[in-house]
Amino acid sequence: MEVSVLIPAAGNGERLGLGPKAFLRVGGRTLLEWALAAFPEAAEVLVALPPGQSPPQGLRAAFLEGGRTRQESVARLLEAASLPLVLVHDVARPFVSQSLVERVLRATQAQGAAAPVLPVPDTLIRSEGGAYGSVLPREALRLVQTPQGFFTALLREAHAYARKRGISATDDAQLVQALGYPVALVEGERTAFKITYPEDLVLAEALARAWNGSPQAR
Ligand code: C5P
Repeated sequence: MEVSVLIPAAGNGERLGLGPKAFLRVGGRTLLEWALAAFPEAAEVLVALPPGQSPPQGLRAAFLEGGRTRQESVARLLEAASLPLVLVHDVARPFVSQSLVERVLRATQAQGAAAPVLPVPDTLIRSEGGAYGSVLPREALRLVQTPQGFFTALLREAHAYARKRGISATDDAQLVQALGYPVALVEGERTAFKITYPEDLVLAEALARAWNGSPQAR
């Protein structure tokens, strides 16, 4: 796979309160190890770690120091990337199937930028003064996941544009879109959820047992 996999893993995991997520253990391995396992054929894997964190030994990846925000961490990873395509993947999403990676890659090769998304299953409302406010029609709304894929040059341009304009974003597709370039949508996976809250760890432990050896993972 002639692609650079970029893993921003420099967050402190504040909402979870258990230290940097990269080193949280689920099903006997760290979230960083899970993330790397999703890209067994990547030609290059670059990981941004929290400042001062010594890189773990024995992993098939190169490490650098992350920035103050996710966006800064990705910008640093992008500078170091040496291949024409990048896949950006949050370390907090351990369960990514090979078919999801392939879907994202195919759409990226065809269209230059791609992100996996899911429909929103719940009713969506605005909370208005703590009370049940207006309902948001959910048909056109999507939850956005990673890995997201890009032509490396395009994502570099999007980050440079965002820096110049002071745009900050929680993912990379937003920056490409802000540049005026379309981002293709591919079908995401419920299992590729982001570990954010303590309850997510319970789900992740259960899923890890099913995932090891599951044909999905291969
Ligand atoms: O905080 P959030 O869950 O949105 O973080 C998404 C990803 O960005 C995580 O993988 C986290 O480690 C990473 N991140 C980073 N550098 C930061 C903050 C977050 O690489 N300064």
